[in-house]
Amino acid sequence: METISYEYEGALYVNLTNRCDCACVFCLRHNGHKGSIYADDLWLDHEPTREEALDNLLTRDLGAYRELVFCGFGEPMYRTDDILWLVDALRARGAALPPVRINTNGHANLILGRDVTPELKGRIDTLSISLNGSTPEEYLAVTHPRDGEAAWHAMLDFTQKAAAQVPQVVMTIVDKDKSPEEIGRCRQLAQDLGATLRIRSYIED
Ligand code: SF4
Repeated sequence: METISYEYEGALYVNLTNRCDCACVFCLRHNGHKGSIYADDLWLDHEPTREEALDNLLTRDLGAYRELVFCGFGEPMYRTDDILWLVDALRARGAALPPVRINTNGHANLILGRDVTPELKGRIDTLSISLNGSTPEEYLAVTHPRDGEAAWHAMLDFTQKAAAQVPQVVMTIVDKDKSPEEIGRCRQLAQDLGATLRIRSYIED
């Protein structure tokens, strides 16, 4: 059974794509989790159309959630246009939306070939961007992006541009194998870009 949206800790998560330009070492997409603890099955046989996603979300009492989160078993910003259309469509139907967050690898501008950050203004409340390391070397070792080091620079540039448009921009790292010095460098990097750092705990297989 495909899952377009699912509840987790009081928030509603939306899964629009399994596509991604990275192959992170800890990614649930390719280490046999097949949906893991988050939902029965987040592997999509086909990506839902924006209309299918809207129908799904309209069956939910959106105001009852603490947050609406676009994440996915993949990189949600492949579908930036559809995410923004959904937010507008839900608001146009009078839905009481909770704060809207996108969990992203920050490669949207690289993937889509344009700066999408101005389009996020007034629609997206929080961006959570995976930082994963304080240097290109650390980043590439963890994320293995299709575009190599260009993806690191694109992620930093996206973060800085987004911080001017979106009220809350958070960069995340996973604490596993990170020294206090490395974490300090990540915190400084995030701060220099106008974001804040959030440290996530590693979830064992
Ligand atoms: S960016 Fe996210 S979805 Fe893509 S491989 Fe990394 S953890 Fe998985």
